[in-house]
Amino acid sequence: MAKKKEDHCSFCGHERSKVQFLISGVDAMICEECTKQAFRIISEDKTLQSANTPLVNLKLLKPSTIKAHLDEYVIGQDDAKKVLSVAVHNHFKRITSKKKTEIEIEKSNILLAGETGTGKTLLAKTLAKILQVPFCIADATVITEAGYVGEDVESILSRLLQAADYNVEAAEMGIVYIDEIDKIARKSDNPSITRDVSGEGVQQALLKILEGTIAGVPPQGGRKHPEQKLVQINTQNILFICGGAFVGIEKQIERRLKTQAIGFKNDDGNGNIDDGNLLKYICPADLRSYGLIPEIIGRLPVLCHLDPLDKDALRKILTEPKNALIKQYQYMFDIDNIELSLSKEVIELIVDTAYEFKLGARGLRNICETIMLDLMFEAPEMKDQKSIEITLEYANNKIEQIRYKNLNAA
Ligand code: ADP
Repeated sequence: MAKKKEDHCSFCGHERSKVQFLISGVDAMICEECTKQAFRIISEDKTLQSANTPLVNLKLLKPSTIKAHLDEYVIGQDDAKKVLSVAVHNHFKRITSKKKTEIEIEKSNILLAGETGTGKTLLAKTLAKILQVPFCIADATVITEAGYVGEDVESILSRLLQAADYNVEAAEMGIVYIDEIDKIARKSDNPSITRDVSGEGVQQALLKILEGTIAGVPPQGGRKHPEQKLVQINTQNILFICGGAFVGIEKQIERRLKTQAIGFKNDDGNGNIDDGNLLKYICPADLRSYGLIPEIIGRLPVLCHLDPLDKDALRKILTEPKNALIKQYQYMFDIDNIELSLSKEVIELIVDTAYEFKLGARGLRNICETIMLDLMFEAPEMKDQKSIEITLEYANNKIEQIRYKNLNAA
């Protein structure tokens, strides 16, 4: 057995004569340099640091308050807003309830189905603004089954932990938005010789965290490796909102509606099915046919759809919300002391073109960018100009250029 070295630092081995201080413990000694280094290591570990920070101050917001806030930023989508407001309110109730009871409120994870550019991510982002819980957005397409190129499913929780400033307790009550959930649908019904590592494999991996498990999460994200220190996160109280476009699912819905047993009506009461928006009849069976495994569907019990954006909605998106696109451009020109104005006809032209391109509200941005580009290039140097009016002719000219590009790409 090694002899106790009383006059040596037990960590670096320096003798008493070479150091300023030597602090003695029960069975060891430490010098001032090693103490400083130990302090640095501890203070660099944010996980430990924030363990003492107070937990987020949770306020139980009423569903109507949540919806009113969503209304300020998101046009239309009333069904989805209602569903989200209630689900988030219940989530808060569930995690703040102090009553001792045997009744345990189950978590209601949410699945949002809607075409691209209809506001799924915007809804989730806007929710984050009013909520005082940590929130993050993850993309299902970058996740692969453990051991393959891509990210582990736990990387989603790493992001939440970062959003919570490494406060584990706060992260355990957060909300996660997982985008493109439809892209991890099973590739085919038949088991294939090659593993479906980005499809069914990911669904299996997601199952556990969606339901509630204690996951070992690498604090800085990325792949887990054996030497890494993992933070344990309990996902029991984390609310998951998943979103996807489910392209082509309408065919399945239509097929189901046509063959549905008589007596159960999916129509407007007059026997008419709204086939312009079949997504509103979406049900778990359709998701299963699309390639989601039943276990995942079971863990996303709140299913709601987003409506496709009509011209009226596109017009409103362009001009009405607090940070509407046109307001953003006007603000940008305002910084250069230029007043930007667009006539009603120009707004109509942008709306009609976005509707024609079928890219939802995403198309609006693209069109506006094309119209404004040259002006934005010149604006900082327009010393004498106090206002710019975009004429129908100017806008038409620019839009013709995108049309030409689109035709060439087709
Ligand atoms: P999704 O996630 O459904 O593909 P996003 O939420 O990312 O679509 O929408 C893209 C952009 O379009 C948003 O940043 C927003 O500016 C605009 N947008 C989409 N839908 C709406 C809406 N219903 N109300 C207001 N803006 C919208």
